[in-house]
Amino acid sequence: MQYPLFTMEKITDKIAALPPGSNYFSLEFFPPKTSMGSANLRARLDRMSRALRPLFVTVTWGAGGSTAEKSLELAELCQRELGLTTCLHLTCTNMSKKLVDKALQDAKALGVRNILALRGDPPRSEEYKERINVNGNGIEGMEEEDEFEWAIDLVKYIRKMYGDYFCIGVAAYPEGHADEGHPEGQSLEHDLPYLVGKTQAGADFIMTQLFFDVEAYDKFEKRLREHESGAFKTIPIIPGMMPIQSYQMIKRTTKLSHARLPPNIISRLDEVKGDDEMVKKVGVDIVSEIVTHIQQEAAPGPRGFHFYTLNLEKAVSFILERTNLIPTEDLEDESAVLEISVPLQSLSVNGAHSNHASRRQSSIGSDPHNRVIVTGPTSNSDWEATALDAAMPADPINTRANTLAISEGEGALGREATWDDFPNGRWGDARSPAYGEIDGYGVSLHMSVNQAIKLWGFPKSVGDITELFIKHIEGSLSAIPWSEEGLNEETNTIKSQLLQLNQKGWWSVASQPAVNGVRSTDPVFGWGPRNGFVFQKAFIELFLPSKDWTPLKEKLMSEEIKENVSWYAANASSQFFSSDSLMVNGVGTRGDEGGSTNAVTWGAFPGKEIITPTIIEEVSFRAWAEEAFGIWEEWGRVYERESESKKLIEGVREDYWLVNVIHHGYVEGEGLWDLLLK
Ligand SMILES: Cc1cc2nc3c(=O)[nH]c(=O)nc-3n(C[C@H](O)[C@H](O)[C@H](O)COP(=O)(O)OP(=O)(O)OC[C@H]3O[C@@H](n4cnc5c(N)ncnc54)[C@H](O)[C@@H]3O)c2cc1C
Repeated sequence: MQYPLFTMEKITDKIAALPPGSNYFSLEFFPPKTSMGSANLRARLDRMSRALRPLFVTVTWGAGGSTAEKSLELAELCQRELGLTTCLHLTCTNMSKKLVDKALQDAKALGVRNILALRGDPPRSEEYKERINVNGNGIEGMEEEDEFEWAIDLVKYIRKMYGDYFCIGVAAYPEGHADEGHPEGQSLEHDLPYLVGKTQAGADFIMTQLFFDVEAYDKFEKRLREHESGAFKTIPIIPGMMPIQSYQMIKRTTKLSHARLPPNIISRLDEVKGDDEMVKKVGVDIVSEIVTHIQQEAAPGPRGFHFYTLNLEKAVSFILERTNLIPTEDLEDESAVLEISVPLQSLSVNGAHSNHASRRQSSIGSDPHNRVIVTGPTSNSDWEATALDAAMPADPINTRANTLAISEGEGALGREATWDDFPNGRWGDARSPAYGEIDGYGVSLHMSVNQAIKLWGFPKSVGDITELFIKHIEGSLSAIPWSEEGLNEETNTIKSQLLQLNQKGWWSVASQPAVNGVRSTDPVFGWGPRNGFVFQKAFIELFLPSKDWTPLKEKLMSEEIKENVSWYAANASSQFFSSDSLMVNGVGTRGDEGGSTNAVTWGAFPGKEIITPTIIEEVSFRAWAEEAFGIWEEWGRVYERESESKKLIEGVREDYWLVNVIHHGYVEGEGLWDLLLK
């Protein structure tokens, strides 16, 4: 079969075709961690593309190629099935050149014509260089100039291999890129010569890091437009906007991206920080004001905006409507139901076959209580919830105006768009497209080799690693590889229990105390809207050696304890046990009733259903365990190949188990700690 030919797929061609003075926007998505998340993102993307009509969408790439297959699958969905102009992010460091080549070939095969060429994490050692030194005569299969150290190397490589086939974007940082390559601090002036280099090497557009300091952005754009090189006179510069999804999330993302939150924005958010709904509302105001401000500034061509959606739709839909980025007159005129006449066909990417359910042919009056989202099988159907279990309404009445209303959460159908509107990172609902990492850039230590060594040194024994965990709990070490933050106030209430566990070599990576009905405005445990009450079950997640895991498992399965706890355990070889498993000859098998779902944080609020922002279940635990062991691997890569530290970390990774234990007796505050410590 012939695929339809897309005549205008390059971003720059599409921008050039816009009327002068017009605005456009793009939306960024990351590949979800679970197959239910992917299925639900498909429905979300379909709705957003019809209601919002972005000029293009972008798909993130996990640093080091960690999400390669999933990113290409998502790019395929966007480009091929939904017919959206798609831009694939591609990083070039810490992965083999083969993977770069494969990504570019696959992107081309999918009809993707746009690549955001990025460096990724700072390059590490020699491990990824495919050097075969033939009798000392040089490198086979790779020319010196093809080595990837900076984003410019990828820009040059794409131009060398593909000529003008791809439209290439590059990243820029209005407040300067934070990198220890220039420890004197982040500075736009430091970056500029390299940005000129990237642009002159063949970049077609510039997309920026998120920012909230609009003055810094104004200065940045002015500086670029007037730059003495002339490199940025007319090139599209697309500012990156991050809708504010929650107080914690915005604090964390701005910290990770080294973007300044100006004091007036902090105080507006601080005023409402105890009320998640209000944070979102104020966040829409803040980002809309920034967009409106930039819209009023003169530009050499149409003005674009890029939105880091984090795979969520409500806040971005409000911002787009508020700032007239989606023309409202179109919305009113249009009432036709979209029909898809082109038969859809799936393509195998990276050898993996994607199961593409055909897009639903929705009709007016389709039953909102029909809860099927997609009909395709999930890739891990043996342990993931089915689409039916996701309890989401079917594709609704799809005029553009109605679809937008749904994206904004209006009416009964609005729940389809907003059921996961308060994401909670890896503790959220694993069926949400937004479940998991904060930026979709994959498993990463979020720092350079030197910074990692400065923090964690060269551990030579298990005792040295124990020491690091203890220091982190005590507050004298700012980060461990699994958490770049210190303990929060709530965790401080169980500090002595955590210290005791860590002292015996059970390294804790996550935990919470039991809470039995505390006001939602409580400064330590409170969350959600006012006048509510919040509850928590105590849980802990630990790495522990296999010699300790065996007796603990027996204890957890003993008659007197098993009714009070749920637990999950996995190791780096993907072995998995849980309290749902039946043990047959010491080997875990699935229980007849499938995996349990444990709401471990919930709240009761006036006029609302019970809200359960923190859920622990098999699917999310498995997804996280894979990542958690991936982080051991990343940490090991900090050290030289044959070094003691690398061998130690590899040994731990192979031997240890990640175990999560939840204690159901939340009215007995100490239940979990008594169980583990006595
Ligand atoms: C819009 C956007 C999207 C992103 N998407 C992703 C993603 O999908 N996946 C992901 O992993 N990451 C992503 N990132 C993050 C990005 O990979 C990191 O910020 C990375 O640290 C830098 O990438 P770069 O392409 O800007 O690198 P570069 O352009 O190579 O610059 C990196 C730093 O090195 C300096 N520099 C450049 N060349 C030289 C040189 N020759 N000598 C000395 N210093 C030099 C620059 O000034 C800068 O400080 C994204 C960032 C942005 C802004």
